[in-house]
Amino acid sequence: MCEQRENVNRTRLVSRADLILLAVVLLLAGAALVFYETHKEQGKLVRIRVGSETVEVLPLGKDRTYEVKTGEGSNTVVIKSGTVSVESADCPDKICVRHKPVDSVGETIICLPHKLVVEVVE
Ligand SMILES: [Zn+2]
Repeated sequence: MCEQRENVNRTRLVSRADLILLAVVLLLAGAALVFYETHKEQGKLVRIRVGSETVEVLPLGKDRTYEVKTGEGSNTVVIKSGTVSVESADCPDKICVRHKPVDSVGETIICLPHKLVVEVVE
């Protein structure tokens, strides 16, 4: 009887240790991700182009909303917390709106129907 109880306790201990190990692994993975995210080359400017023409260059460090109107329609570009995204657009495919926010040099969000390119530079 006594021995049986010890077994139960041991089983609990092992599963608790497993949980701790899992937590540690998750923490390490999270830390690695944070390290990667913070050590990417962060861009400083956002260049907004329509076709081959640059219509605006905005600092990535300053939160703001910028409405881009083209002959094809409009896109709402939002700069927030050092990232840029297209919040809304009246293009038919909405690919630009679904694109995740970008913040690294060379990353772009493209709205093909509107010939709009939002690019992180420098
Ligand atoms: Zn679009």
